[in-house]
Amino acid sequence: MLYGGIEAGGTKFVCAVGDEHGKIIEKVQFPTTEPEETIKKVIVFFRQFTLEAIGVGSFGPCDINPNSKTYGYITSTPKTTWENYPILQILKDKFNVPIAFNTDVNAAALGESTLGAAKGLDSCLYITVGTGIGAGAVVNGQLLQGLSHPEMGHVLVRRHPNDSYQGTCPYHGDCLEGLAAGPAIEARWGEKGSELSSRQEVWELEAFYIAQALMHYVLILSPKRIILGGGVMKQKQVFSFIHENFKKMLNNYVDLPELSTKIEEYIVSPGLEVHAGITGSLLLARQAYQEGQRL
Ligand code: ADP
Ligand code: ZN
Repeated sequence: MLYGGIEAGGTKFVCAVGDEHGKIIEKVQFPTTEPEETIKKVIVFFRQFTLEAIGVGSFGPCDINPNSKTYGYITSTPKTTWENYPILQILKDKFNVPIAFNTDVNAAALGESTLGAAKGLDSCLYITVGTGIGAGAVVNGQLLQGLSHPEMGHVLVRRHPNDSYQGTCPYHGDCLEGLAAGPAIEARWGEKGSELSSRQEVWELEAFYIAQALMHYVLILSPKRIILGGGVMKQKQVFSFIHENFKKMLNNYVDLPELSTKIEEYIVSPGLEVHAGITGSLLLARQAYQEGQRL
C-alpha cells in the first residue's frame, strides 16, 4: 500500500511516497515558488503512483479545523501569493483519495512520537528553529489542538541585558521567534547562522532565549521529551548551552531527573533527523486512509 506525504514548507516542498510503516520509498524536493508552479510539481510527482491517501504538513499559520469554512487554507503568511490559498481543496480537486491536512510541526511531532526520538512515549514536543519558530505537541497520544493550532514560537521571553537587537517579528517584535529564529540571528550578527559556528556568544545568547521558552512549555504542558529541529539546530553546540540554561532557570523547581541529571536525554535532536516532517506527513496519510475505511 502506498501513501503520499507532502512537507509544504515556506522555503521548500518535500514530497514522498512511502509504505504503511512510514518508510520513505521515493522522495523529491523543490523550492517553494508561486503556488501554481509549486503545486504543479507536486501533481507531476504523485501522478506516477497509485496512492491510498495523502498527508500534508503545511507551513502556517494555516487552518486545520475541519469544521471551519477555511479548513485547509494557508492563512496569514507573509508570503503574499500563498495568503488565503486553499491548498487542501486544490489537491482534492486533483487526487481522488482521502487527504489529511495539518501543520508542518504537528506532522513532525507525529513522526518523532511514532518512529523517532519520542517513540514509545505518549507525549512530546517537536520544535523547529528555522526561518520561524513553531512547535507541535503530542499529549496523551494525540496532537494537541485547541481553538487553533498552538503557536509556541511567539511567546514572550525576558531579554538578555546585553542584547539590544529589536527583533524581527512583524507582530510582536521581540517574541521568541523575533529574537531567536534564523533571520534574527542573521540580522543581529550580520551573518547567517551557518557562518557563525565558532562564535560562542552567538549560541550562548540563542540558548538563553530557547531555554526560557522550553521552561514555559515544560511548566505548562510537561511533555515527556522535547525535540529540537530546524536549520538553526544543526548547530549542535547550542544543545549543551540550552541544557545548562534550562537547568539554571528551572532551578530544580520540578525536581525530576529528566529535568536535571538526565537533561541530555530530555532535550534532544530529532531521531528521524531531517525526515521528521515528511515521515509524519506519511503517517497523517495513513490516518486519513484508516478513517476513510471506518466511514
Ligand atoms: P525553514 O524553516 O524555512 O523550513 P530551515 O529549517 O532550514 O528551513 O531554516 C532556515 C533557517 O535556518 C535560515 O534562517 C538559515 O539561516 C538557518 N540555518 C540553516 N542552516 C543552518 C546552520 N547549519 N546553522 C545555523 N543556521 C542555519
Ligand atoms: Zn511574534
